[in-house]
Amino acid sequence: MKGRNWREGERGKMSKQYETVIGLEVHVELATKTKIFCSCSTAFGGAPNTRTCPVCTGMPGSLPVLNRQVVEYALAVGLAAGCQVNQYCKFDRKNYFYPDNPQNYQISQLYLPICHDGGIGIETEDGKKVIGIHEIHMEEDAGKLIHDEWGDCSLVDYNRSGVPLIEIVSEPDMRNAGEVIAYLEKLRMTIQYLGASDCKLQEGSMRADVNLSVREVGAKELGTRTEMKNLNSFRAITHAIEGERNRQIDLLEEGKPVIQETRRWDEAGGCSYPMRSKEDAQDYRYFPDPDLPPVVIDSAWIQKIRDAQLEMREEKMRRYQEEYGIPAYDAGILTSDKGMADIFEEAAALCGKPKKVSNWLMVETLRLMKEHGMDAGELRFSPEHLAKLVSLVEEGVINGTVAKEVFELVFDRDIDPEKYVEEKGLRTVKDEGKLRAVIQEVLEANPQSVVDYKGGKQKAIGFLVGQTMKAMKGKADPGTVNQILTKLLA
Ligand SMILES: [Zn+2]
Repeated sequence: MKGRNWREGERGKMSKQYETVIGLEVHVELATKTKIFCSCSTAFGGAPNTRTCPVCTGMPGSLPVLNRQVVEYALAVGLAAGCQVNQYCKFDRKNYFYPDNPQNYQISQLYLPICHDGGIGIETEDGKKVIGIHEIHMEEDAGKLIHDEWGDCSLVDYNRSGVPLIEIVSEPDMRNAGEVIAYLEKLRMTIQYLGASDCKLQEGSMRADVNLSVREVGAKELGTRTEMKNLNSFRAITHAIEGERNRQIDLLEEGKPVIQETRRWDEAGGCSYPMRSKEDAQDYRYFPDPDLPPVVIDSAWIQKIRDAQLEMREEKMRRYQEEYGIPAYDAGILTSDKGMADIFEEAAALCGKPKKVSNWLMVETLRLMKEHGMDAGELRFSPEHLAKLVSLVEEGVINGTVAKEVFELVFDRDIDPEKYVEEKGLRTVKDEGKLRAVIQEVLEANPQSVVDYKGGKQKAIGFLVGQTMKAMKGKADPGTVNQILTKLLA
């Protein structure tokens, strides 16, 4: 397959046209403080097996008690995704044997999941499209196996065992990687706005399994699908989709069958390899969990969740435009990540200059993010410090050039700009006497520019302003420098 070009239009040699059919299973770790069925902490990390108890290590005789917050988060996500709620829902045991699963079953939902039949709107190249949500169910996470640390054996850490998850199962409505990424971004944004999860792919708080099949264009029946796991970035997802589509088309072109199986995507190697044959529900011998009573969700509870739902992105975008006069494009970027929107709003409230705050985020912040290959979710500076920086510029304490330098430090290390400016003596010099003396020296050192200016070359003044700023180590007020220069040259 190497060396073949798969771009559209270069498939002349292929006898048939194929369509890719993709559905996603997305697991999201919920932002509760405690686990789903016990009061152990869900905090990430910690010494192995210190955030555990008899319930989440599956000790005989221990009994699970459902965390109410898990139901509320699952409901919030379901309602935001336009789902129907099963007001009477239940938990089931999914039986399988693996060392990361101390009970030998996972408590999940099969027969009556909490939410079903919803949809999420995305923007595609061909316009708007709705990706159907088949169901959302609540379940518990498994522990973590650690291989290779002790040579000939594997270790297990149950700190993650019992961390609450929701699994969001889409319909097979996506047709290419672009649609998949648009869907995941929309899902992530929605869930972040609800505060239900931080949805970090790299840290595993959001994990996507891709179910993919191909079929001839126009065919009604779905082809045999494979499931790909281990996808921890949008890049890996995009590559895995392209790779798997090509692999399946190659098989079909050679007249070979696609085998239904779970495959692991190796991002470094750029290929996938089989993990295991895909199980069906019956392989797990599901049955209702006898230790947990059904969850009854009355209409008043649903209404309460609806009312409490935080302002969603579209509303925020509208508000930024109407209240703050932010252009639509900028409002779109500011709200593309919950963290970014929070920084914007807090900083704007603190300094009272929403447009200026927006400019710092839209220009310098985006530039530095690009330079560092960062995502908005990784921004670490505090709104207080951005607000202080805006105020320093507005009050004329520092000029734009100094502000940019200080902002880089705010971005990198979240320094306090006020303190920094005082410590480093970066205040703008406005003292006319002092400036005049420096400008005199600059004029004496650059007689040719003076001649040029007087001879009608207006541009020469720019050079002289630059030289003055340089002599002042960037701390002069350019406007004042310009005024004095014009006066002196007249
Ligand atoms: Zn526990």
